[in-house]
Amino acid sequence: RFITFEGPDGAGKTSVLNALMPVIQAHVETPVKLTREPGGAEISEKIRTLILDPANTAMDAKTEALLYAASRRQHLVEVIRPALAKGALVICDRFVDSSVAYQGGGREIGAEAVLAMNQFATDGMSPELTIYLDIPSAEGLARIKAHRASRQYDRLDQEQLAFHERVRATYLALAQAQPQRIKTVDASQPLEDVIKACEAVLKAHLGA
Ligand code: C5P
Ligand code: MG
Repeated sequence: RFITFEGPDGAGKTSVLNALMPVIQAHVETPVKLTREPGGAEISEKIRTLILDPANTAMDAKTEALLYAASRRQHLVEVIRPALAKGALVICDRFVDSSVAYQGGGREIGAEAVLAMNQFATDGMSPELTIYLDIPSAEGLARIKAHRASRQYDRLDQEQLAFHERVRATYLALAQAQPQRIKTVDASQPLEDVIKACEAVLKAHLGA
């Protein structure tokens, strides 16, 4: 079983996931494996470092998209598939939808091209459920600025509001096109309420 969490910068994915882990584990008998792109795979981490290095200002949008797809492939092969084979419920912080939103929408490569390269990279792997944490772009950016000290500065921090608005618009379009798979949770609520809303979606899905 494979479930992903998605959302723009500042939606609080990491905090929500950390709080949800024990809750999810209480609802299923199988082990739960939390992972994130690039996950524990060494090669994936190296690729991610390359993509996010603030010094790489010359990186082309398609180069970036290909590198994310390559990082994703290695993480899938080394981490996600082996965990699924052992019967674990795998929860992944970001997956293909992130590339559709950031590289397809944000960088304006287009969703179709990004989907095609990710189809190749993942052999068409798709999560059974995706929880999308939605937040207005200005609010997300304000949260990031407030937590600047505890976050590592990366190349994406050079992007302006318009970029983040394209990312969010693409996420919203994805959620509207695939309502069966993608469940939207309002992430501008207080953290406890976001966690409760996610828990309700997960309970309904896992049948617990
Ligand atoms: O999810 P996390 O906060 O770890 O993402 C790190 C950075 O990578 C963020 O700035 C995010 O916007 C960016 N990112 C991206 N394209 C992706 C995935 C993440 O630009 N496909
Ligand atoms: Mg994060």
